[in-house]
Amino acid sequence: MGAEKRSGDADRRLGRRALIVGGAAAAVGTAALAREELSHLWWRLPGVEKPRVAGAVDFRGARWVGASPGNFRRADRPDDYAIDRVVVHVTQGGYASAVKAFQDPAHQAAAHYIVRRDGRITQMIRELDVAYHAGNRQYNERSVGIEHEGFVERRSSFTDAMYAASARLTAGICGRYGIPVDREHVIGHVEVPGTDHTDPGPYWDWDRYIRLVRRAEQARGQ
Ligand SMILES: [Zn+2]
Repeated sequence: MGAEKRSGDADRRLGRRALIVGGAAAAVGTAALAREELSHLWWRLPGVEKPRVAGAVDFRGARWVGASPGNFRRADRPDDYAIDRVVVHVTQGGYASAVKAFQDPAHQAAAHYIVRRDGRITQMIRELDVAYHAGNRQYNERSVGIEHEGFVERRSSFTDAMYAASARLTAGICGRYGIPVDREHVIGHVEVPGTDHTDPGPYWDWDRYIRLVRRAEQARGQ
């Protein structure tokens, strides 16, 4: 897909920029090249961007499908914005339509991850970057967003495989950024200030979910 290819190329360029800023300009070649590259860095200086690898995921086992750059903002979290929330969403549709929406540059929204009914996890935006998922700028900047395939009004949307996979994903996120596993820090979209969204809705079993995340967190620690 075109969008994915573009982002792949951008990733390689950024990897090289990161090297230059890191002081390895000599390894790249001419000073002219370094100057040319540095002229594009006005938006990052004086920070050093972390290297990005095309197709790499933050959660082992996730599959990478890049979202359209129109649906997120490049950032350098957690250095520029601390991450202290996980936001749980429900797609109100199937997996394929969610992927398609997040690849649509006009959609203006996307989450970092989508968890399918069968427990497969797709990552569409890097945790480094700010995804437009919460409808609240500050909450977008401070959180990682996880979509779950299904409908808020259907209890049957939320399968055992989905809970288990999502809990492992959230445990990993909480572990990476030191986020406490509780309902203050693992929240639903409905709890984001100012939102009119209701997801994940009344059938999402929070007690079960937090229990599973804590269990997954302990398993990680062993
Ligand atoms: Zn939502």
